[in-house]
Amino acid sequence: MVMGMKVELLRYTADPERLIAAAAKSCASKRTTTELLERLSDEKVSEIVRDVVDMGHLSVIEHAYFTFSIDGISRVTTHQLVRHRIASYSQQSQRYVTLDEENFVIPPTIEKKEKAKNLYLEFVRKAKEAYEKLLEMGIPPEDARYVVPQGITTHITVTMNARELLHFFRLRCCYKSQWEIRKLAWKMLKIVREIAPVLFHNAGPSCLSNGRCPEKKFPCPVKKLLERGKKSREEIEDFLENTP
Ligand SMILES: Cc1cc2nc3c(=O)[nH]c(=O)nc-3n(C[C@H](O)[C@H](O)[C@H](O)COP(=O)(O)OP(=O)(O)OC[C@H]3O[C@@H](n4cnc5c(N)ncnc54)[C@H](O)[C@@H]3O)c2cc1C
Repeated sequence: MVMGMKVELLRYTADPERLIAAAAKSCASKRTTTELLERLSDEKVSEIVRDVVDMGHLSVIEHAYFTFSIDGISRVTTHQLVRHRIASYSQQSQRYVTLDEENFVIPPTIEKKEKAKNLYLEFVRKAKEAYEKLLEMGIPPEDARYVVPQGITTHITVTMNARELLHFFRLRCCYKSQWEIRKLAWKMLKIVREIAPVLFHNAGPSCLSNGRCPEKKFPCPVKKLLERGKKSREEIEDFLENTP
């Protein structure tokens, strides 16, 4: 039984939109950010945050940080995740893994073909055997792990600021990104939207946030969905989160 992906927001900058608005306003004000934090109305906070995001004055949104705990994703996906450099990561060491079947992500394309799934699981069992034999031979875990397949699950703690999150969502919520990191990105986006709805209101792939697709030559079902105009944004977001 595969556990599945688990994404939790551990900590975040308190009142992120108010902080961003106060910092932005302070640039053209005699008042300090401390004073503005107290004085700005909720409406003004929303207006300023909307403006800085729309205008692309994004350095002020770097003041807001979000830390996630992510569990049950493959090493394939964490390798893609850690390519995003404006972030901090703490990942489980592979010296402490258990190579049981339930600790492997089975891609949906493999899951739905019995023969492919059997082949995949057989390979996992062989890798486990080889790993255990190497340990028995006195090979240290950091060397024995070279036989571990990339589908093994891992856990990782990730901290990104809001600017990096917007960038990450633009790339990784897109249909062109692989299903697992795309699912992860949508889960993260849906969580931070609850905390900072104005800041992340329009976050997501370019096609949804600004109506432009930078991947013009890539065949994408979302293009067709948008052209037909029959699906709501929410339905398209669910499609992107859940379609392998
Ligand atoms: C669909 C898809 C397919 C991909 N396929 C491949 C692949 O086949 N091979 C591969 O190697 N990678 C691939 N990648 C990874 C991709 O090339 C990037 O490494 C990854 O998406 C991180 O993006 P980034 O560098 O823009 O962002 P981040 O590292 O998150 O950085 C954010 C932004 O900060 C700025 N920045 C960060 N570091 C620097 C720097 N050193 N100098 C200047 N500016 C900087 C840039 O503006 C950058 O966009 C793929 C990504 C996607 C989304």
